[in-house]
Amino acid sequence: MFSYLSSTTILLCILISYNSVHGWGSDGHALVASIAQTFLTDESSTFVRNHLPWYTSGNISMLSSWPDFILYPDTNPVDYLNWQWSKQLHFVDTKDWACVYDREADCNWSSGQQCVDGSIQNYTKRLADSQQDDVQRQEALKFLVHFIGDAHQPLHAGFQGDRGGNSIRGHFFSKQTNLHSLWDTVMIERRITQDFHSQPALYLEYLLKQMKTQYAQNISDWTNCSSSDESRYLACATLWIAEDAKLNCDLVYRDENNQPMSVSKEFELGQTYYNTRMPIVEQRLIQGGVRLGAVINKIVQTVGVNNKSKKFSFGATALIVAIVSQILLLILLLNYRFISKKESTPKRSSANQQQSKSFSTV
Ligand SMILES: [Zn+2]
Repeated sequence: MFSYLSSTTILLCILISYNSVHGWGSDGHALVASIAQTFLTDESSTFVRNHLPWYTSGNISMLSSWPDFILYPDTNPVDYLNWQWSKQLHFVDTKDWACVYDREADCNWSSGQQCVDGSIQNYTKRLADSQQDDVQRQEALKFLVHFIGDAHQPLHAGFQGDRGGNSIRGHFFSKQTNLHSLWDTVMIERRITQDFHSQPALYLEYLLKQMKTQYAQNISDWTNCSSSDESRYLACATLWIAEDAKLNCDLVYRDENNQPMSVSKEFELGQTYYNTRMPIVEQRLIQGGVRLGAVINKIVQTVGVNNKSKKFSFGATALIVAIVSQILLLILLLNYRFISKKESTPKRSSANQQQSKSFSTV
């Protein structure tokens, strides 16, 4: 029990400290999740509370970067190697300047690893499936929250030839970076620092206001998806990735003079790129949040809030065994103390009697 509590506390500390140091990686995912949270129905809020660890109190943003943390030795020194299989699930590579997402060719459907499209389909189904045990469904929820965020960062569907913009290097306001990081962290970090007193909570407030005003009329369109079996839970990742592919050709991979960027030439970007691309970053954060909320609501609406896992997980069983054995041990200890107290009490009283006797004789 102690080790369970202490490992939870350590994880919480890591998450809090990581959040305060890094930008979009965790800020962006937390913003998407927080926007989604405001969309949840009462039933969905109960459902996520039931499917997340107790210390989150049902706050989906708290573990929205868990799928990134588990991958690296600095955030998961104990078993980061065991999670490497999940690396492929965060993105999909599209063909250079094809400007479309070719679902069959781009996502590696034949391998078990697939891509962000396949992972969204897979974890949506797993979250809705009561045949999965509690641990598997909790994992599914954490992955789904993260991957729907990833699917809205255009460079998570970037070009194959430059590894989603990671190989395109250059400068942003004279600081060295690469195109992928620019979209993942650098632009949003600048926005929060310059315009929101370095407080992500104030930025969230602003995005929610934008959602309710500027984008209010788009919400039903964004959550509408009529394609194939993806539409069952509104998890239309194919559509979302197609939007990324178009954005990449129109804006992401073009410099301030509208020229294509590539690995062969370092970019020099500043105010013009920032002013024109930041609204796209914000729209994608809001879209991701709205769609994530809609997917969770749809799952809960379809399977029911009391859709408990039928299987009992090994983890839960181990925890209950540990708690029961601790309680038994406590009862035994209390019992032992009670018995030994009982045995020692008459001795003391007979000594007292002897003492009082000796007093009386004096
Ligand atoms: Zn990711």
